[in-house]
Amino acid sequence: MKKPARIFSEVIKHLFKKPATSGYPFTPATPMKDFRGRIDFDSAKCIGCQICVRVCPAKAIEIPLSEVQPPAPAQVEGQPPVAAKKKFDCIMKLGNCVYCWQCAESCPKQALITTQDFELASVDRKQLRRHYK
Ligand code: SF4
Ligand code: SF4
Repeated sequence: MKKPARIFSEVIKHLFKKPATSGYPFTPATPMKDFRGRIDFDSAKCIGCQICVRVCPAKAIEIPLSEVQPPAPAQVEGQPPVAAKKKFDCIMKLGNCVYCWQCAESCPKQALITTQDFELASVDRKQLRRHYK
């Protein structure tokens, strides 16, 4: 058993030492270089091929057709009409996602953007289902 004087000197010593642990969440944390965080979505690039949905091991991603579709481009005289480009949304179930980034690595149009965002915890289940438009 340590003597009281020894314990007291240890306490005093540690009062003036810097903490050995990280200050997060009181100070911002920087994820390490290869950290895999939340996936973002760029609707303008998505072609709705559903490859990301098929490769996701956690069934965490859905790519529905957007409710609001862009108008068809104006027809040029003498040219055949050009079909409107379809617009897709992305629903990401953050509670299911295992952050493997397989969807982003398989997307042929780079419509899924990798981020290092990790502050995703929530007490509201609705917040874990993100609808990107
Ligand atoms: S990161 Fe992985 S688990 Fe999450 S949506 Fe993409 S493929 Fe699915
Ligand atoms: S996000 Fe990429 S892989 Fe997924 S449907 Fe859109 S284009 Fe296809």
